Amino acid sequence: MLNYTPQTQYLRDKVILVTGAGDGIGKEAALQYARYGATVILLGKTVKKLEQVYDQIISEGGKEPAIVPLDLQGATPNHYAGLAGSIEHQFGKLDGLLHNAAKLGNLGPFVQIPVEEWQSIMQVNVNSQFYLTQALLPLLKKAPAASVIFTTSGVGIKGKAYWGAYAVSKFATQGMMEVLADEYENSSIRFNCLNPGGTKTAMRASAFPAEDASLLKTPADLMPYYLYLMDANSSAERGETMHAQA
Ligand code: NDP
Repeated sequence: MLNYTPQTQYLRDKVILVTGAGDGIGKEAALQYARYGATVILLGKTVKKLEQVYDQIISEGGKEPAIVPLDLQGATPNHYAGLAGSIEHQFGKLDGLLHNAAKLGNLGPFVQIPVEEWQSIMQVNVNSQFYLTQALLPLLKKAPAASVIFTTSGVGIKGKAYWGAYAVSKFATQGMMEVLADEYENSSIRFNCLNPGGTKTAMRASAFPAEDASLLKTPADLMPYYLYLMDANSSAERGETMHAQA
C-alpha cells in the first residue's frame, strides 16, 4: 500500500465534491479532505448520513461543508445543471471531484438479470457520472489544477461471472476516464481511476456476506491514495488506474 502523508492543510484553498459521501469509502474520503483543509461538497442519497458527516467535519474544526441530497437514480441533467449553477455561485470553481457512489445490485447469472436492474445500475454507476462530469467540467476548468477520480473495481478490469451489470458499469467507468484523460491531455484537469480493492463497507458485506470482515482493509487504510490523487504531487498521473491493494 502507498505510504503517503501530504502536507498539513494542503487542500486549504480547494473545493472538492464527493459522491456517496454519507457512507463507506466516500464518507472517509470526505472527512479526510476536510481534515486537510478542503471545503467539501457532500453529495449522496440519504440526508441523515450526509448530516452526520457534516456534523463530524464541523466538530473536528473543518470548513463548513455543503450538503447536496441527490438520488443519482432519478436525477436528470437539469438537476446537475442546477448543482453546477449553485457551486459556481457559491465557490466559483471546483478543484476536485471524486466519483465514488455506486450501486452493486444482486449478484447472479447474466441470463437472469432483470432489465430494470440493469438499467438502474447503469443509471447510477455510469449515466450519472456522465451527467455530473459534463455539468461540472466548466467549473473544473476554472480551478488552477483540477483532479477527477473515478472509482473502479477488480471486476471492471477483468470481468467475472455473476458480477453482471456492476462489472460492466465499472468497465464503462474506466472507459469514461480514459476518454476524458485523452481529451484533456494538455489541460489543467487530470482524470484517473482508483480501485480500492476489497474494503470493509456495507457494499462489500452485501457481496460477501459470509466472509470474515475483520480481515479486510478499512476505508481509512486506503486514504493515502485518495489524498495523493487530490495533491499537486500527483499532477503527472493522467489517465492512470491505481490499485490500492495490488
Ligand atoms: P457503500 O455501499 O458503503 O457506499 C456507497 C455510497 O454510494 C453510499 O454513500 C450511498 O448512499 C451512495 N449511493 C448509492 N446509490 C446512490 C444513489 N442512487 N444516489 C446517491 N448516492 C448513492 O460502498 P463502498 O464505500 O464500498 O463503495 C464506494 C466505491 O468503491 C463504489 O464505487 C464501489 O463500487 C467501489 N468499490 C468498493 C469495494 C469494496 O470492497 N467496498 C471494492 C471495489 C470497488 P446511501 O448510503 O445514502 O445509500
